[in-house]
Amino acid sequence: MQLYQTNQIKLYNSLSGSKEIFQPINQGHIGMYVCGPTVYSNVHLGNVRTFMSFDMIFRYLKHLGYKVRYVRNITDAGHLENDADTGEDKITKKARLEQIEPMEVVQRYTVDFHNILNTFNFLPPSIEPTATGHIIEQIELIQNIIDNGFAYEVNGSVYFDVHKFNETNEYGILSKRKLEDLIHNTRELDGQSDKKNPQDFALWKKAEPQHIMRWPSPWSDGFPGWHLECTAMSTKYLGEQFDIHGGGMDLKFPHHECEIAQNEAAKGKSPVNYWMHANMLELNGQRMSKTTGNTVNPDELLSGNNTFFSKAYAPSVIRFFIAQSSYRSVLDLTDDGLLASEKGFYRLMDAVNILESLIASDKSTIDINTWKQKCYDAMNDDFNSPILIAQLFEASKYINGLKDGSSAISEGDLTLLKTTMHDFIFEVMGLVDSAAEGGNDGDKLAGAVELLIELRNQARANKDFATSDRIRDDLQAVGIQLKDGKDGTSFSVN
Ligand code: AMP
Ligand code: ZN
Repeated sequence: MQLYQTNQIKLYNSLSGSKEIFQPINQGHIGMYVCGPTVYSNVHLGNVRTFMSFDMIFRYLKHLGYKVRYVRNITDAGHLENDADTGEDKITKKARLEQIEPMEVVQRYTVDFHNILNTFNFLPPSIEPTATGHIIEQIELIQNIIDNGFAYEVNGSVYFDVHKFNETNEYGILSKRKLEDLIHNTRELDGQSDKKNPQDFALWKKAEPQHIMRWPSPWSDGFPGWHLECTAMSTKYLGEQFDIHGGGMDLKFPHHECEIAQNEAAKGKSPVNYWMHANMLELNGQRMSKTTGNTVNPDELLSGNNTFFSKAYAPSVIRFFIAQSSYRSVLDLTDDGLLASEKGFYRLMDAVNILESLIASDKSTIDINTWKQKCYDAMNDDFNSPILIAQLFEASKYINGLKDGSSAISEGDLTLLKTTMHDFIFEVMGLVDSAAEGGNDGDKLAGAVELLIELRNQARANKDFATSDRIRDDLQAVGIQLKDGKDGTSFSVN
């Protein structure tokens, strides 16, 4: 008997706009596709939030005993600057600016992405396909769409005919947009484009002579449109119809809308049963975005080397902070929020450690079975991690009660409490025990440096500049930088 047989998941399906009972196509198996990063720069914490949400979902589905094939791609070609069909390819542009090969750009940022994922204890997906590794599949897909009458070629480029598609299908079904409104809101292209209509999108673009990333095709030497890769790779590995497709909210339109249109046009089927969208991470109340530069990179937050936050935070503290909000809510990254999560995380770790030393009695005064069910109920309700965390804190109260002798627990219940705590904290939420992560070393270091800053202030007040300079220079020599500001002295670790 697998856990999924007794745990019915309800998940919010962006397609229907409501929570639905999750029913996989093949019992016990789940196909899940999540749009991966465009590897032209370092991932920021917004990207991390989306991937982390799906990592936790993947972990929980596996925990329930499902055999999950999780496909997360790497976009290494075809993503143009303005997310539509114009502008330079993001990777080509970076390669041009840095005077390196596009594949060097791809390699550099793919390695960075993997390092970040390891730092945050992500599980690797089952398959991580690349757009450039699936050009043949994309060309085949375009041919299917042309053969079915939903795409046309002009001057070596191929466009999806949105208006034709909308005569028999519903373009806008996911994002709840109507083609008439889109027509109303799109700028005319002043004859600069080969498209029949501005709403049409590129399936294949003929490469300009200077465009380095290019492949031969029946239409021209060129490159595929961005939306196409995900249709080609998801259906190649998960089938023409599969269970879950995820990504950040910003991908709903046009990217995911176009994926649906492409699949319906090529195969006559809507590809995905459950569309899931993670909401945005904000910084200073504004969406974190590479394009606007309103970002913090994981390294900057982990080292404390940034202008936004008062100190460095451990990877599990950041994971915990993210899990304290539902994946569907907008989340603002703030110092206060991180400080509160840090306290909460270490309180939970303390409880886990105390748990190990508890001694069983012959009967229980607390109801562990009911508590355990509440943990599952939280996750079964659209992966509601904040409610799960509230239940874990409830368990820390039990643990403290058991420690001070105000309550008692039987042998069987103690084992159940231990396994359930471990399952949810480490396996499902992917947190790492603070001791394994170097303990609460960040706080110890901060305490020691604060003391040195105080001694330096005293030395300065006494005009003992030899001592104050020595403190600053010796700290710098071991990679700790003091920064004097109007609110006093802060520090960062390089
Ligand atoms: P990109 O590399 O820009 O294609 O983005 C990779 C993933 O990160 C996509 O699923 C985006 O939707 C997601 N993403 C981008 N910005 C944010 C943000 N500020 N908060 C949450 N997710 C984001
Ligand atoms: Zn995608």
